[in-house]
Amino acid sequence: MSDQPIIVMVGTRPEGIKMVPVYLALRQAGHSVLLCATMQHLHLLQEVFNVFGVQPDINFDIMRTDQDLFYLTQSILIKTKSFFLSTQPKLVLVQGDTTTAFVSALSAFYLKVPVGHIEAGLRTGDKYAPFPEEMNRTLISSIAQLHFAPTKESVNNLQAQAIKSDAIFLTGNTVVDALYMLLKRIDNQTIKINVELVKRISEALDKGMIFMLLTMHRRESFDGGIEEVLSTIKNYLSTNKNIFCIYPYHPNPNVMRVIKSTGIGELDSVYLCGPLPYQDFIYVLRMCQIIVTDSGGIQEEAVSLGKQVIIVRNSTERMEGILAGMAHLVGTDSKKIIEQIEHVLTIKSLSLPIQLYGDGNAAQKIVDIIEHWLGQNYQCVSKKFFLQSIQNNIAKF
Ligand code: UDP
Repeated sequence: MSDQPIIVMVGTRPEGIKMVPVYLALRQAGHSVLLCATMQHLHLLQEVFNVFGVQPDINFDIMRTDQDLFYLTQSILIKTKSFFLSTQPKLVLVQGDTTTAFVSALSAFYLKVPVGHIEAGLRTGDKYAPFPEEMNRTLISSIAQLHFAPTKESVNNLQAQAIKSDAIFLTGNTVVDALYMLLKRIDNQTIKINVELVKRISEALDKGMIFMLLTMHRRESFDGGIEEVLSTIKNYLSTNKNIFCIYPYHPNPNVMRVIKSTGIGELDSVYLCGPLPYQDFIYVLRMCQIIVTDSGGIQEEAVSLGKQVIIVRNSTERMEGILAGMAHLVGTDSKKIIEQIEHVLTIKSLSLPIQLYGDGNAAQKIVDIIEHWLGQNYQCVSKKFFLQSIQNNIAKF
């Protein structure tokens, strides 16, 4: 095996959660692998590393207050250029649809380094929703050599983009690997759940209250959508005092402003807290009866746990949950949100967990495919390029 490394790129919390299982499986299989964190999200991503007990080999430390897409794009492009030149990877792995994922793939392409795309093929068909994620993932598909698709639907989307079938691999989503890893540790008590959180939840459940989980953070909802959803939920909870709601807010200034203006956190029945460490969040997901969210990853986790989820977005790239009757797309319209909450509350028994998004073995499947690909097809197309301008010291990152 060549000693050129495989580079695993991560930038945000969801990328960390979904990439760490792949990084661990590659390490377990004895590969030379470097975990590179751009730190597009600083604290949220560090929390993920802490939960899984890993540390990045390289930290670009790019996060700034009020960072925009132009700043992120140029910093990641420049830093990955030097990093890839100095390490000469045989493969760069990117996950999902963030700016970190897209720009790292672009940088690898400029250096003629092959790219593997994990969670490939998700599409809404609307280039502005989610923004900029839909365009990021579509462009990554045009660049990547290996496409690890989580579901049959995503395989179809890739084929519709004229990606060759022999480069597409149906693996399941690594989010289910991460979820199962954490559930196991919660159950065997090798990881601790925040005591205050457990207390607040059990007090509410002891009083016979219904337990709701709320999350909102999408960029395309900043121009009014978040305000409408939070006002709706606030008004609904004001008149339905038997519902206890945990709202781990996203620390984006646009979200924080709306939380303040709607006053949702002032209700006694709302437990407004900052982002929860992954194990605490999974605990909440498992305990709650109703979920209102605009998150992508939470749709997958909720359905995998057998929970009904109300999606406060106008489109979703995860149609599998909707077709299975577990997820409900309502947009940000007040009337529709309330109708759907009331509907979900009438569903007495919770559905059983289903393996719609994966069976918990996606990371191992990805490693097996990479090994096969390296063995059968790998040629260091970039080697000549690298020899032109090699840098030996990666410590300066
Ligand atoms: N998550 C978490 N703590 C929280 C909220 C979410 O650990 O307080 C996890 C959640 O379990 C999921 C991921 O973060 O795996 C989803 O991230 P987010 O909603 O920020 O992004 P998206 O999936 O929409 O890209």
